[in-house]
Amino acid sequence: MPEHTLDAEVVIVGAGIGGAALGATLARAGTSVLILEKTTEHRDRVRGEWLAPWGVAETKRLGIYDLLRAGGGHHPTRHVEYDELLDPETARANAFDLGAMLPDIPGPLCLGHPTMCNLLDEAATHAGATLLRGVENVQVTSGTPPRVEFRHDGAEHALKPRLVVGADGRSSVVRKQVGIIEHQDPTHHFMAGLLVDGIEGWPEDVQTVGTEGDVNFLVFPQGSGRARLYLCFSRDQASRVAGPEGPANFLKAFRLRSVPESEAIAAGRPAGPCAAFPNRDTWTDVPVVPGVVLIADAAGHNDPLIGQGLSIALRDVRLVRDLLLAEQDWRPETFTPYVEERAERMRRLRYSSRLLSILECEFGPEAAQRRARAVARMVEDPVFASAKMAAFVGPEVPPAEGFTETARERLLAP
Ligand SMILES: Cc1cc2nc3c(=O)[nH]c(=O)nc-3n(C[C@H](O)[C@H](O)[C@H](O)COP(=O)(O)OP(=O)(O)OC[C@H]3O[C@@H](n4cnc5c(N)ncnc54)[C@H](O)[C@@H]3O)c2cc1C
Repeated sequence: MPEHTLDAEVVIVGAGIGGAALGATLARAGTSVLILEKTTEHRDRVRGEWLAPWGVAETKRLGIYDLLRAGGGHHPTRHVEYDELLDPETARANAFDLGAMLPDIPGPLCLGHPTMCNLLDEAATHAGATLLRGVENVQVTSGTPPRVEFRHDGAEHALKPRLVVGADGRSSVVRKQVGIIEHQDPTHHFMAGLLVDGIEGWPEDVQTVGTEGDVNFLVFPQGSGRARLYLCFSRDQASRVAGPEGPANFLKAFRLRSVPESEAIAAGRPAGPCAAFPNRDTWTDVPVVPGVVLIADAAGHNDPLIGQGLSIALRDVRLVRDLLLAEQDWRPETFTPYVEERAERMRRLRYSSRLLSILECEFGPEAAQRRARAVARMVEDPVFASAKMAAFVGPEVPPAEGFTETARERLLAP
């Protein structure tokens, strides 16, 4: 490929959710964009496929909602929290209406991660962005301008765009190359995922989460008898779903006394890999250096327990896009509104995931009693429900006092 077609104002490393969405929305606004992606196709790597209602609101603001919906996005409408201490009828009677959480948002959106990436990649190239796949050895150097070197189709390239965006996911090489430090929480539990087909016996309008025995389980239907399942378990069971028997062991854990239709799930057919991850949150203090901005997981990711990564990525995309389009000068200070908003957003989500890890992913009779007390307190006082509600309506919506040490101590008190 001749060098001149690679000239672009913005080079984005990573054509996943964050990189492709930013590429599409910048290209639509007339910015020249080059996206560098190391894989030649998007595969199921057990990633997020449940976009929270506040993330759906971000898709509307970015102009990509219709694309995701037409590409198969499915809206569950009821959220049921089953629990070993609760009879199923009571659990169902307490269901939330997912379409009533935010104005004009019909609920969360469930769609395969590779499908979402493909739809956004196509939108980016359709809008005029150049996407190179199978790119190797990306090397980014911070500066004004920054420098990007990479290998593609046997040729070496060196470019000097105005800005490089690191959107290369949780193991970001761009983050390491430009010296941005990532902080990490200790691992509290493990979270595994599996896509299943053939679960027509499960109501496709119902998503569920709950705790029973030694697992926390999550079911997100995608329509047509398919669902993305997650299972959380304690650290001492790290290899619970590993090896050739992993998918069968994963599904066996879905035979749940507290969930009436769970047999339909347990009888599902694996439709992708089964993989487990440490739950921990990671974060960066300032995901910006001269000439380089990190977005989405590359800038630090939230514990997948509360399903926020896709929404975080899309909020990052909107904030960074708006700053790039509004400002002529792309110095690090230009991104201060993004850096400040993200820091508080991630702090609140980290608070939520740490608290919900204790409540939902610690097991045994005492933990179950603590969970029951906490649920009763959340019903009595909306401040206590802030950590949970943040994951649906967005972390900026609940009151600030819901994200304090005092609220946490009172919620967990005996
Ligand atoms: C088990 C699990 C469950 C989850 N569940 C949810 C959920 O229900 N809801 C939710 O919102 N989030 C969830 N998430 C989080 C969500 O998947 C991520 O936060 C989201 O995908 C982040 O988007 P991204 O663009 O940063 O990364 P990705 O979508 O992973 O994209 C990164 C891209 O960069 C490419 N890349 C990587 N390195 C390079 C390189 N050196 N050069 C070029 N390209 C590169 C990759 O190939 C990939 O295409 C979950 C995560 C896990 C692990």
